[in-house]
Amino acid sequence: MRLSHYLLPTLKENPAEAQIASHRLMLRAGLIRQEAAGIYAWLPLGLRVLRNIERIVREAMDRAGAVELLMPTLQLAELWRESGRYDVYGPEMLRIRDRHERELLYGPTNEEMVTEIFRACVHSWRNLPLTLYQVQWKFRDEQRPRFGVMRGREFLMKDAYSFDLDEAAARRSYQRMFVAYLRMFARMGLRAIPMRAETGPIGGDLSHEFIVLAQTGESAVYCDQALLQLPVPGEDVDYAGDLSPLIAQWTGPYAATEDVHDAARFEHEVPETRRVLARGIEVGQIFYYGTKYALPMKAHVTGPDGAERPVHGGCYGVGVSRLLGAIIEAGHDGQGIVWPEAVAPYRVGLVNLKIGDARTDAACAMLQERLAQAGTEVLYDDTDERPGAKFARMDLIGLPWQLIVGPRGLEAGTVELKHRASGERRELTAEAALQTLA
Ligand code: ATP
Ligand code: MG
Ligand code: MG
Ligand code: MG
Repeated sequence: MRLSHYLLPTLKENPAEAQIASHRLMLRAGLIRQEAAGIYAWLPLGLRVLRNIERIVREAMDRAGAVELLMPTLQLAELWRESGRYDVYGPEMLRIRDRHERELLYGPTNEEMVTEIFRACVHSWRNLPLTLYQVQWKFRDEQRPRFGVMRGREFLMKDAYSFDLDEAAARRSYQRMFVAYLRMFARMGLRAIPMRAETGPIGGDLSHEFIVLAQTGESAVYCDQALLQLPVPGEDVDYAGDLSPLIAQWTGPYAATEDVHDAARFEHEVPETRRVLARGIEVGQIFYYGTKYALPMKAHVTGPDGAERPVHGGCYGVGVSRLLGAIIEAGHDGQGIVWPEAVAPYRVGLVNLKIGDARTDAACAMLQERLAQAGTEVLYDDTDERPGAKFARMDLIGLPWQLIVGPRGLEAGTVELKHRASGERRELTAEAALQTLA
């Protein structure tokens, strides 16, 4: 991709409205643009990161056996009256009327709709377990949209819903999602810690929020330091096997969000030197809700004995767009963003220091070609700006590698390769640079 024909509106100054680093950097690096309070346009570079995060989320869901579908953003109020939630949901729900005076809403979540689909299509225990998921925009009319995409009003969520014959099976579905979440966040370069969370009116112990520790996080959290070092399950984890030991390992040490924190237990269970009192960002939440929706909405399946019973459900959310903020909070320095390779919008930024110089242009064209052949995604800065401005912009947008090509280096037979995260720079031949990037 050539920067001269791209849309990358970077800003030199810090926008006054942005209070935290990730929001500032997302605006400054030209990833997003606010169109209304809490409503953002995703500019080309930001969209690429969003797509990369979505891909990791989808791979994790698919690996754990979940099946993707896509539900509409608009839903009928009637459906929400069936579950009893239409009147209790409150002002976060955006309610709309169509030309026929039919009441609609922009979905803040999808338990009702997915239960409606399930009840229409699935009738037998033979189809279970079944976990359905989607990646879809949600709308919540947040009282205080802030921190950019961290608390938007329109935001992208991955929401999954499990269906099982009984509570024991539902717990196994919950465990699969729990493990998939550990893997998914780790692949994005994040350490997200599962913490006991409010289960609401259902009770029980089956809800966890996945929290990325960050000073700018909105929730106060408490946990055992041991959780910061636990190894994340590998790619080869067997979702068909018994995940209980793994879950026990991750849920044994104390970890709780503010809402369910028990100070006496914390102090009793965790030695003082291992107590972590911190702030965190909720990047996901998983929840077992039993027959809460199946009962009022009559989502029944027949069991092996031929008797009908309400299906047991769970829901599993991930804040896909919020994750950009969380990843940047965890990865930035004074110069700008430092993307983990797995989500970076491009892997390499190719900088031409003297556009119009035949030799430099040819070297850049060759490098671009070779990198493309190797399947490496390249953003080519072919603008005629000053080198200083180009370096600053590359640092700001945080691509993992910078490949800098100028006439003086070429004279000596070298290009420069800079690793954004470590700041390490090396002068080497073009061939050696290509090999390093291979
Ligand atoms: P919060 O406590 O931050 O308001 P929530 O508990 O209301 O979030 P859930 O209903 O659990 O959110 O939704 C699943 C996930 O969607 C959350 O874990 C979070 O990552 C993301 N999310 C929720 N609200 C927003 C928002 N306004 N903007 C961006 N992401 C959000
Ligand atoms: Mg909320
Ligand atoms: Mg919450
Ligand atoms: Mg939540």
